[in-house]
Amino acid sequence: MNRILLLGGVTEALAIARTLGPEHIYSLAGVGRVPTDLTCQVRVGGYGGAEGLARFIDAQGIDLLLDATHPYAAQMSHNAATAAQLTGVPCWALRRPAWQPGPDDDWREVADWAELTQALAPFQRPFFTLGREPLQYLDDIPARQFWTLRALDSVPGNARCDIIAARGPFHLDEERALFEQRRIDVLISKNSGSPSTEPKLQVARERAIPVLILKRPPLPAVDRELESVAAVLAALSQDGHPGG
Ligand code: NAP
Repeated sequence: MNRILLLGGVTEALAIARTLGPEHIYSLAGVGRVPTDLTCQVRVGGYGGAEGLARFIDAQGIDLLLDATHPYAAQMSHNAATAAQLTGVPCWALRRPAWQPGPDDDWREVADWAELTQALAPFQRPFFTLGREPLQYLDDIPARQFWTLRALDSVPGNARCDIIAARGPFHLDEERALFEQRRIDVLISKNSGSPSTEPKLQVARERAIPVLILKRPPLPAVDRELESVAAVLAALSQDGHPGG
């Protein structure tokens, strides 16, 4: 029996999961919403590293590991590639192409938090869209800066930082209003390549605001890299992995 273990984490993973029948498993870390209307099985929570994942693959008779985690979820992608090697099961990955700057963009790549802090020095009103990571630095915000930070969950800010809890997709008009009202002078972003969070880049372009981009982490080699849901579904059907 063909059995897929789909590692979720991006919107496209859910679209793939919706096509899978009851023998397949959709695996989630448990940080986002867990769908309850799927035909395939849904498993929530980690495996205890690559070895734990390999044991699960063996125990469940998985024939294909499909990594559709976020491009910055590098740990899970490395675990998936290692577990595939340990079990001899092929590993495919959905790898969204990175966003590319246009001629009017001022994008500055930073490798880590230290480089980001340096690059931020000239600005007063940064808008962070990196998820939870900046929350640990709220006590270190320089007196000349006021941060706006957008994350999935509602958590308290402080006198120097407002936290907006919101989930994409984000729309251009709302993003324009946010930049205007908060007088944002620099945007901080990962390069997720996701259309649902891309409007902020358009607003930065319109306002001639720099974008500090956290570099994508290196990801492991896999048996097959696919760029879109359509490419994954076509590859699955060519390979004889039936859906629903
Ligand atoms: P990570 O550092 O790569 O993974 C941390 C641990 O979470 C993994 O070692 C694994 O635990 C567990 N895990 C991750 N994805 C899993 C999955 N699909 N099924 C079961 N367990 C999973 O990931 P992260 O950056 O913390 O992100 C956590 C989840 O949120 C990922 O699924 C990712 O795709 C999604 N996400 C991440 C970002 C981001 O910017 N990092 C953005 C949007 C969504 P064990 O080692 O115990 O197996």
